[in-house]
Amino acid sequence: LASKLPNVGTTIFTVMSKLATETGAINLSQGFPGFDCAPELVSLVEHYMRKGFNQYAPMTGVPVLREALAQKTFEQYGVAYDPDTEVTVTSGATEAIFAAVTAVVRPGDEVLVIEPAYDSYVPAIELNGGIPVYVTLTPPDYSIDWQAVREKITDKTRLILVNTPHNPTGHVWTTDDLNKLAELIYDRNIWIVSDEVYEHILFDGRTHHSLMTHPVLQERTFVVGSFGKTYHITGWKIGYCLAPKSLSVEFRKIHQYLTFSTVTPIQYALADYLKQPEPYQQLSAFYQRKRDLFLDGLRSSRFTIKPAEGSFFQTVSYAAITNEPDYDLAIRLTNEIGVAAIPVSVFYHQKNDYKILRFCFAKEDAVLQEAADRLSKL
Ligand code: PMP
Ligand code: GLN
Repeated sequence: LASKLPNVGTTIFTVMSKLATETGAINLSQGFPGFDCAPELVSLVEHYMRKGFNQYAPMTGVPVLREALAQKTFEQYGVAYDPDTEVTVTSGATEAIFAAVTAVVRPGDEVLVIEPAYDSYVPAIELNGGIPVYVTLTPPDYSIDWQAVREKITDKTRLILVNTPHNPTGHVWTTDDLNKLAELIYDRNIWIVSDEVYEHILFDGRTHHSLMTHPVLQERTFVVGSFGKTYHITGWKIGYCLAPKSLSVEFRKIHQYLTFSTVTPIQYALADYLKQPEPYQQLSAFYQRKRDLFLDGLRSSRFTIKPAEGSFFQTVSYAAITNEPDYDLAIRLTNEIGVAAIPVSVFYHQKNDYKILRFCFAKEDAVLQEAADRLSKL
């Protein structure tokens, strides 16, 4: 069979997590919390399962969850999405990203990808016959060169993929970034998929500037979220897409035939749980403490570190330690010192030698401490 994705192998997350398990290494590679979700959430799911909410949910998501999402979004960002026509519940952000890209991209369309980019973006573009066009961010700053973006936009540009807070770099967009993007596209036929799955994880007093908060951008953007990151439930695979009606109509046509609908009892549970603001309001402080604990543990290490601005990932430069390619080093560290990380070059379309590793600090304090101790001996 001729491959439709000839350049795609097994994702790095699977490769590194498998190696970590086989070797017994501390797994700071794949991004998932090393602790459980709130017991209340589990009780709510159990409650709805026992009440018999176990058959297909409506295609767009159960009404109470769509309403709760619209309400929370309005309170948080001051933007009103109609729960009936503009909010769609999906099987994780991954599905939402794929559905949104599929709704927009036709063969030959160019799609701007800001790299390093989350690994599901480019396959989604290519499976739809789109052509990824890369804007490259470089360490240690990873800030966006808007002149470079301007130069990449052509008459064929149909979509831009945005991710803030950013995986893997932890970089966070400012209002200036929003304005710059709006200036570039306001008179063009360009749509946006904005992956905001880390919307509640920001550090050092930063705020999340959702693309929906800019009127020019809001009209053209599919905002994608995930409950996995916010409530420590990555294994439940539940997310959503907020988009103006005309975009949501097309989004739902794809979602309808990708998965049709999403796990019913969990949707009801989340509709209840979402009404409490504390869990997501406390998330930034919760993760900032963990980031700082990890950074503190690495103080005497030879890594060069710029603290993450958001997300639960910390990147580090190992240029002062070794010349090895990042992939080789990630494998060696797992095998030899028992700490697994993600080599950041895999998030770029071409090999590079930036010498950056990504560590996930969504782990128990003692685990982070032990990992930092081991890494400090390098
Ligand atoms: N986008 C980014 C930037 C992510 O980091 C992740 C998952 N870690 C996803 C999308 C996928 O989210 P989900 O598990 O809800 O599909
Ligand atoms: N998003 C997670 C990460 O960046 C992993 C998700 C996955 O394994 N597909 O590590």
